[in-house]
Amino acid sequence: MFKRARFDFDYALVGGGLQAGLIALALRAAQPSVRVAIVERETHLGGEHLWSFHAGDVPAAARAFVEPLVVRRWPRWRATFPGLDRTFATPYASVSSTRLHEVVSRSMAAHGDSALLLGAEAKRVSAHAVELADGRAISAGLVVDARGPDRARLEGRVAFQKFVGLELALSRPLQGDAAETATVFDATVEQRDGFRFFYVLPFAPDRVLVEETFYADGPALDGPALRASILAYAEARGLSVREVVREERGVLPLPVERLAAPSDAADAPLVAGYAGGFFHPTTGYSLPLAARVAAIVGALAPEHAALALAPERARVERQARFCVLLNRLLFRAIAPESRRNVLERFHTLKEETVLRFYALDTTPADRARILCGRPPRGMSLRRALGALTDDGSRGERGRAGERTGEGASS
Ligand SMILES: Cc1cc2nc3c(=O)[nH]c(=O)nc-3n(C[C@H](O)[C@H](O)[C@H](O)COP(=O)(O)OP(=O)(O)OC[C@H]3O[C@@H](n4cnc5c(N)ncnc54)[C@H](O)[C@@H]3O)c2cc1C
Repeated sequence: MFKRARFDFDYALVGGGLQAGLIALALRAAQPSVRVAIVERETHLGGEHLWSFHAGDVPAAARAFVEPLVVRRWPRWRATFPGLDRTFATPYASVSSTRLHEVVSRSMAAHGDSALLLGAEAKRVSAHAVELADGRAISAGLVVDARGPDRARLEGRVAFQKFVGLELALSRPLQGDAAETATVFDATVEQRDGFRFFYVLPFAPDRVLVEETFYADGPALDGPALRASILAYAEARGLSVREVVREERGVLPLPVERLAAPSDAADAPLVAGYAGGFFHPTTGYSLPLAARVAAIVGALAPEHAALALAPERARVERQARFCVLLNRLLFRAIAPESRRNVLERFHTLKEETVLRFYALDTTPADRARILCGRPPRGMSLRRALGALTDDGSRGERGRAGERTGEGASS
């Protein structure tokens, strides 16, 4: 039985990124009086991020707390490849880490018994306790570990989605469709370092984010070369760049082997966010899943949250298995310069299939449609068979004990 007085807080959220921020907002909406602590090692919540997503993927239960974070919404999005130019009339949106920091900080400050601990590094995390690097310790009815990707655990078992992005101020405003359409893929460009494409988000008629993105085998990014390449792309597309306002970069590990589920030992924290497997293994989209988790955890008393999250964890794990298989085919069976053919073919499929794939909600028929058909150019049949039969679980069994056997994680 949960005894509130035993603990400093009702919930301690470790890692103040996307997942922790959304849980904090969900808790404030559903249980306004609970005491919440957020432990973040940086001085700012959320890092330097833009989280974009297909707006329809956010569940109804989460819309009220996600909405104030949205910095821009588009009524449609577009994918262009050498042989395809397709626009999907479904909404797309972006949340920024700057907005997340503002909204969550304000919400935490309004509650006297809650604490936003910035510049605080967690050293050891267990079901009810967090030890900080500076020697402080806090206790909570439920500790949620949302510290993001654990790079050491992922070593050798991932490929990468990586990008450099420039936010550009324009001297000549965008007109018509160009100002209202999110270009999620412009893959008509020369292919190098794996699947290469540009991502173009018009935030205002005179403000556009252009990202050069890769689905690559390695994480390296050559900043100066990519900056020059983005500016050359902008010029070639007729964007009149007045100034570079902001730069961002990111490298997201995409699993090509199944990863161990988090520990369910009695002294283990509830692991959520990327570390808990709540992200799309192929596209990297995390916001809708993090919002779902937040809606579930936020509505429940600390002692019920882990059990209530179990069905969603199992659903995501089932869906993720298929995506990890696709990643293995994409990164291990298909020549890097031919990966674009796979993505192009995928975007020719029925709209519902494409949208359910992005939502991590595929049906068996969707999965058959995605996998069947003529093998894409550049696919090695021998390597494809190897990828299909090896699910990486041998490596997984060898390594699972490193994290899952030990309960508390540090
Ligand atoms: C290339 C790229 C593009 C992406 N694009 C999108 C997108 O468009 N849409 C989308 O939905 N997702 C996108 N993602 C994925 C998304 O950013 C992550 O999956 C998501 O942020 C994971 O949320 P999280 O809360 O688990 O981790 P994070 O948001 O990474 O937060 C983890 C936090 O924990 C903190 N932390 C870590 N260790 C400690 C410690 N010991 N003590 C205290 N604090 C700690 C970190 O500083 C960080 O703030 C992208 C990622 C990248 C890199």
